Amino acid sequence: MRTVIIGAGISGLTAALMAKEAGADVTVITVGFGGLQLGQGTLDIFDAPEPLNAIAALPENHPYRTITPESINEGVSAFRKIVPLDGSVEESTVFPTALGSLRRTGLYPHSMAAGRIEDGASYLLVGFSGLKDFYPALAAENLANQGVNARSHTVTLTAQGDTALAFSRSLALPGAAEDLGRALAQAAREGERIGIPAVVHEADFERIRQAAGHPVFQIPLPPPSIPGLEMNELARQACAEARIRMHLNSKAVGFTAADGRISAVKVQVAGSVKVIPADHVVYAGGGIESGAILLDSHRVLSETVFGLPVFAEEEILNGDYWGSQQPLFAAGLKVDSAMRPVDTEGKPVFENLHAVGGLLSGAQRAHEKSGEGIALGSAAQAINAILRSDS
Ligand SMILES: Cc1cc2nc3c(=O)[nH]c(=O)nc-3n(C[C@H](O)[C@H](O)[C@H](O)COP(=O)(O)OP(=O)(O)OC[C@H]3O[C@@H](n4cnc5c(N)ncnc54)[C@H](O)[C@@H]3O)c2cc1C
Repeated sequence: MRTVIIGAGISGLTAALMAKEAGADVTVITVGFGGLQLGQGTLDIFDAPEPLNAIAALPENHPYRTITPESINEGVSAFRKIVPLDGSVEESTVFPTALGSLRRTGLYPHSMAAGRIEDGASYLLVGFSGLKDFYPALAAENLANQGVNARSHTVTLTAQGDTALAFSRSLALPGAAEDLGRALAQAAREGERIGIPAVVHEADFERIRQAAGHPVFQIPLPPPSIPGLEMNELARQACAEARIRMHLNSKAVGFTAADGRISAVKVQVAGSVKVIPADHVVYAGGGIESGAILLDSHRVLSETVFGLPVFAEEEILNGDYWGSQQPLFAAGLKVDSAMRPVDTEGKPVFENLHAVGGLLSGAQRAHEKSGEGIALGSAAQAINAILRSDS
């Protein structure tokens, strides 16, 4: 079973790993890695205290009305095998952001766990001098304004630059994590949980926590985020260990088809076009943000590899740029329960083409915090449909 996956974001990598585990011959074609490394290192299912209950009430055209809760759980479990995470699909947890607002998520790295907002808990937010993107006094004040018991402190750390990456390298040096842990211990009052900007890898974090002797947690920063990069790297490594064929810098540009089935994907590599035979194709190209769907100057939307119909509201931009959500970001493909893109009559366009993740229409992912749950659930549902069709 030759399964070609287009795209190496969270949906493509997860689909590739699930297909490989089921015994498929898997090839990933991708321009580059996807949005994982720009994320926070968390998995959002839906912005509600109980995501699975909330998604049952979504409108009919939302991807979660096609993706089953079983698929979401299966996709998340597959991802958890490669990236250890706390939390759950059923119940969200609320954490402070770098600005001191409150953000809900489903699953999160262990290094963020002690940051969950709980009644009666007190938080000390610690910044590092010279690090941009985290201002502990501002974050603590914003939290306090929302009734959270929080105060701030800054420690002096040296790094070769002002970014999360620079501080991450500096804290990986021998003894640096322990030194920071001891500085945190001095600053904290009894019972306080200590929040630091998320600049350390999980392995270094444990050394900080032990030296601090207090509950310590990481607070995600804007991209490039260390937890997001770490998540991407673990997924990439898992694909390499599973010996999944990965063609980087390769762009799917077309296909051949016969009798309603895709038989090969055409791939632009450097100056030539390669033809990769396929029994099944999982299209995980992301949405408008990754270029898999284009908007031209006449406001016409098109899908760039297979020429699939793109569904959107009639008015795709509403002119209210600072207010309500732009319908454009919910534009995408409609799929059947096997995750196959359908035409305007609801019929699958190709028997063996499945679309997942950011390509699917009907969700405001960033606003609803649904992008990762949709990506994982649709990947699992597509791979299960492929396995069923082959059995
Ligand atoms: C600004 C922003 C903020 C967001 N915030 C959140 C949030 O807070 N919570 C949340 O849950 N979701 C959020 N999302 C949505 C979330 O990031 C996406 O839903 C998720 O990344 C989709 O994953 P994916 O694997 O489907 O696609 P992507 O991660 O976009 O990956 C697409 C992959 O396809 C490849 N590709 C594209 N075209 C081709 C081609 N022709 N040939 C070969 N490869 C190709 C790309 O190189 C890439 O590897 C946000 C999105 C944006 C843009």
